[in-house]
Amino acid sequence: MSENYKDLIPETREFAEKYAARAGYKLNPNEEILNAVLEGLARNKALYGKRYCPCRMLSGNPEEDRAKICPCKWHKEEIEQDGMCHCQLYFAKD
Ligand code: SF4
Repeated sequence: MSENYKDLIPETREFAEKYAARAGYKLNPNEEILNAVLEGLARNKALYGKRYCPCRMLSGNPEEDRAKICPCKWHKEEIEQDGMCHCQLYFAKD
């Protein structure tokens, strides 16, 4: 791993906060789950150079995996249907 992924966690949190504010969502209020997802995103960024969704299998094909870069292709629909995205990072506001 070229970078220690833990160093990337603060900027990953900042990215998620900014996106949530812009899109009208909120982050998971459960800090433990939130931290686990942020850690997974930071790890993927350190490993693969992109914030791939930690909850989806990667194919290894960048074309195919592009849809899995956070915020992924499916999150809006998931939040609309379930109130949260698949990873439980972004939540609908109450
Ligand atoms: S499921 Fe959530 S955390 Fe995972 S990529 Fe999609 S928006 Fe990001």
